[in-house]
Amino acid sequence: MDQQFVKRSDMDFLNRSLPGVLLYAVIWPLLAWSTDFYLYAPSFTLIFSGAFMGISLLRITHALSTKFIYRQYPDTWRALLFLLCISQAATLSTLVVLMINQAQYHQWVITSLLIVLTVIGGSASSLAPKPKFTQSYIALLSIPGALACFFSDEFRYLVPLFVMCWLYSLFSARRFFKEYRRAFTIESKLKDNQKKLEKLNQTDALTGIFNRQYFDDALSIQWDLASRSHTHLSILFLDLDFFKRVNDQYGHLVGDKALCHAAKLLKDKAKRKSDMIARYGGEEFAIILPITQHQDAMELAESIRQSLAKQVFVDGEHKIKLTISIGVNSTLPDKQQNWLTFLDQADQALYQAKAQGRNCVVSYQDTVCDLKSTKPRLA
Ligand code: GH3
Ligand code: MG
Ligand code: MG
Repeated sequence: MDQQFVKRSDMDFLNRSLPGVLLYAVIWPLLAWSTDFYLYAPSFTLIFSGAFMGISLLRITHALSTKFIYRQYPDTWRALLFLLCISQAATLSTLVVLMINQAQYHQWVITSLLIVLTVIGGSASSLAPKPKFTQSYIALLSIPGALACFFSDEFRYLVPLFVMCWLYSLFSARRFFKEYRRAFTIESKLKDNQKKLEKLNQTDALTGIFNRQYFDDALSIQWDLASRSHTHLSILFLDLDFFKRVNDQYGHLVGDKALCHAAKLLKDKAKRKSDMIARYGGEEFAIILPITQHQDAMELAESIRQSLAKQVFVDGEHKIKLTISIGVNSTLPDKQQNWLTFLDQADQALYQAKAQGRNCVVSYQDTVCDLKSTKPRLA
């Protein structure tokens, strides 16, 4: 969260301070020109115009290089940004102090003061993501001017204005930061909740594995991926045998635990990161096996079948033997076929496994001739 906040506040600080780059670059030349100051003090005008524009150019270069520097050297990136912002403030402060200190510029003091007050006012909100830096920035813009006024007979009356502006901006900057932080916290919580909701939407409440909706979406995606990359795709369709009897004999609660037991076994068996296990219906499960050839899918199915048959599911005094029937389908997907047919073929293989007496694995490919006359069962 904190790391996230630092990154987010870095980027927000950069984006929010960028309009100031333009302000710094043009406001002094514009005012010098519109008030005829440049005629009166051309070198003074040029030096400060050059300084403001030069730093603004560096800031634009810095902003443009963010994507190259930030990821590897975030501290250097931040230090450079702060240094450039401080340089702008220091230049502006120097300009104001020079105006106040030198009698020949006195008629333009109010003009330069307007620039400082505009910048201070704007920085309290635009630099809010970095409160400590903002405090120093505002102090650098306010204190030298206030001191220069204090030591000048003519402008001493401006000291309270500087001090009030400084304090008010500090107070506003703190408040803006608190609001900024609160907005970030709310946004993060909303994102977390959205992720949780998405997960809930994908998950089967009883077993914790994926649900049918998610499985269908995932299969259609895997189908497209496999057809583009020309890789094999396999699926297993699994159904617990005579599960109704388990419920009838031990009750629904025990039946639920047995379903969780079976789901856990499937998770333990289909271990690859890309394997996707779902509860497809009541006591039916399905597994997507990307980049898996027919033989490997058959071996996994057989291993699942044997493990479940070997284990005895124990719940209190109940010892329950579970078996499972599995239909397997594998193919090299192409644009002519579609994933629904592929799924339906796996279901036909499962149907065949049930017909052959249950507790067995049947491949659609191996039984394709027998199945030609069988009607699809999937809705
Ligand atoms: P088959 O070997 O032909 O698959 O027989 P079966 O008894 O497993 O199949 P059937 O479709 O007749 O019955 C499925 C049973 O699964 C019926 C239902 O009570 C049970 N079932 C479905 N969902 C749940 C569930 O969430 N919890 C529990 N405890 N039982 C469930
Ligand atoms: Mg069943
Ligand atoms: Mg069933």
